[in-house]
Amino acid sequence: MMRATLILVLAMVASRLGGSGAGVNAAESSASGTRVTENNVRGTAKYSNDNYGVRRVQSIHKSDSPEAAAIRQELRAIEEKTQRSQTGFNVDPNHSVPYDNHPWEARRKMQEGNGAAQSQFAGTFFKPMRIRFETKSLDDMRDASNAAKIDFIKNEILPRTASFWSQALAVVPVSGPLRISTGELDNREYCGDYEFTRVPSEHISQGIEGADLVLYVSGTPSSRFCSYQTLAVAVACNFDQFDRPIAGAINVCLSTVELNADGTASPAVIQDNVDVAIHEVSHILGHSSNSYRFFRDPDTGEALTPRPFSTRQVTCVDGVSRSLILPADNTMAFVEASNGQRFASIVTPKVRAIARNQFDCQSLDGAQLENQPTGADSCTGDHWDERLYYDNALSGVISPTTNILTPMTLALFEDSGWYKANYTQARISPWGLGAGCDFATGPCIATDANGAASVPDYGRGYFCSDKAQKGCSSGHTHKMGCTINDYYHIVPRDLPDKHFQYFDGLPTLGGPRQADFCPLFGSTYEGLEAEQLDCRESTNANTYNLYSEIWGQDSRCIESTAGEGRCYRTACVQDIMALKINVRGEWLTCQYDFQELETRVGAGLLAQTITCPRLSTVCPDLFACPFNCAGRGICNYANTVNGTVRPQCECFDQKDTSPGCSDSLIPDGAYLENGNGLFNNLEENFFDPLIAVFVDHPDLWASASWAWAAGLLTVFFVLLLCICSSCLPSPKGSQKY
Ligand SMILES: [Zn+2]
Repeated sequence: MMRATLILVLAMVASRLGGSGAGVNAAESSASGTRVTENNVRGTAKYSNDNYGVRRVQSIHKSDSPEAAAIRQELRAIEEKTQRSQTGFNVDPNHSVPYDNHPWEARRKMQEGNGAAQSQFAGTFFKPMRIRFETKSLDDMRDASNAAKIDFIKNEILPRTASFWSQALAVVPVSGPLRISTGELDNREYCGDYEFTRVPSEHISQGIEGADLVLYVSGTPSSRFCSYQTLAVAVACNFDQFDRPIAGAINVCLSTVELNADGTASPAVIQDNVDVAIHEVSHILGHSSNSYRFFRDPDTGEALTPRPFSTRQVTCVDGVSRSLILPADNTMAFVEASNGQRFASIVTPKVRAIARNQFDCQSLDGAQLENQPTGADSCTGDHWDERLYYDNALSGVISPTTNILTPMTLALFEDSGWYKANYTQARISPWGLGAGCDFATGPCIATDANGAASVPDYGRGYFCSDKAQKGCSSGHTHKMGCTINDYYHIVPRDLPDKHFQYFDGLPTLGGPRQADFCPLFGSTYEGLEAEQLDCRESTNANTYNLYSEIWGQDSRCIESTAGEGRCYRTACVQDIMALKINVRGEWLTCQYDFQELETRVGAGLLAQTITCPRLSTVCPDLFACPFNCAGRGICNYANTVNGTVRPQCECFDQKDTSPGCSDSLIPDGAYLENGNGLFNNLEENFFDPLIAVFVDHPDLWASASWAWAAGLLTVFFVLLLCICSSCLPSPKGSQKY
């Protein structure tokens, strides 16, 4: 009996080790794991338009839903109904914002031969934008049921939003009180709309001290603006003599603000709300299809689109020809992609430079705006295109994992002429970073020799082709499943256009609509929220940690043969230009994209292969140029230092010493200069040397393994002796009766 048990145990160990030695097959593993189903693609606003349950959505993010399209249409109507929007001139020509040293005024005076202006021009400076909130309308809504929400908005969300934009953008400071012009107000009273804020009369007569921008915050539970769980809408309502927005309205839909019972919110919820507010304010600041035509040359102040405006006939992104007032070709251009899809791109200099640097594609015209129909009469979008700028805070749909305020968005504000940007407030997006022109212009899914959908090399790590696939978010912060919906079953039924069909014979399948139906890693699974799949969150640690995962601030999701992405500590190391991944205490080295590394997890019992990510996605500060060169130069991705490729900015202007293209602007250093502090601390298990006896070559055995081997051999011979002795016939004479 004892012999049988021992043999069984040894057989189990051997079979386990043998299986793991070949690596756990990903397909087998995922087949045995929990599969991603439509029901558990949830908790992510990305999919809310597909009628999955949602936790929170944003109006302008929901460009695709009928409800949100109606909201967008309302906002567009507000922007377009003013005379200014139609002509390009403020209604009240006498309304002027006081500036001491506005460079464009100084330039005009210089041109008029006013010598005194020369010294004024020299003294011109930009200062961080001062934002003031007027919250009387919001306070007027206060009752017992919403007091905590109003306090939350006022104490948590608004100050953080103002702080962000004040640090990100500088303006020529207003000198003296900022007066509001009634000519631009709705019914000469309301900022934007009668459901928002009535502007206090003293703001019109006396003005507001110490402000470059005033934001009127209301909390109207409007049926026009608060349907479909809209969190907030925002619109600009006053402008200075150079068209810079100086006032705007934000209407918060308090019913969608979710707080704990005690009125508090988790840091993640606060951040989500701040992200939304930052997004909304950016529409006020100029990231809006009705603002682009007001942009000016930053150096001269000349309007980029001539005034008065005139209409022209254009084929819009939905293929419909319309007569519209549009930005001039120096600001926005329409292009037709190889698949026949129309889109509009922002082509101003810094935006274009950054779009090119993002993808390492210097032939791009500019940065593509969203090309999905954004409402019944919309020609272009107010957002960056989802397919190309998926995790961008200013793309049309909020990402379930991360929403990055990128250098490109700040570049748009600089190209407006109204702002100077502080690029250290931005972060580079990993999405398509350095992935080449094919990523930007080619199809996201190709067809392999067998006719099956497959991800082209340039899309690897971003796109996916199998709904059962589990991988990582583009920045490798989260574990994510592959998003493929069957649009046949989604109401209202709106199937992918022919040029967005990627699965042969299955025309109704596709990824998120706004991402041109490209399947990508954007789905949660196993009923978890996105934050529960975040490798950086230490509370996500798994009790049954079979794969030796580590959750924490420096952990990232790494693709593995173990069925899904796994969380391991990582470090970007500059001197060797490599990504280090710590598995079970051992620092492995990724020297190139998608390098495969063998490792062992689960107390050393399981062998698994991990696949290095694109190095630029985890270490953008090493493998791309800082802030995409802030739009002031070309990122040379092939630049070498001591024989090692190290991307570097090459300034358009060799004499340019402004922060950005030169080395003067350094990211906050999400990398180590060298790996000196990274020590292997392999978690040696008591039985590891025993396991090594079975899986390693004897050359690699430690002395403990030799001891185990000797012990096993001894046991083996003892057993053999027992077996043999039991088979030998007993000497007859020994029997006693
Ligand atoms: Zn938006």
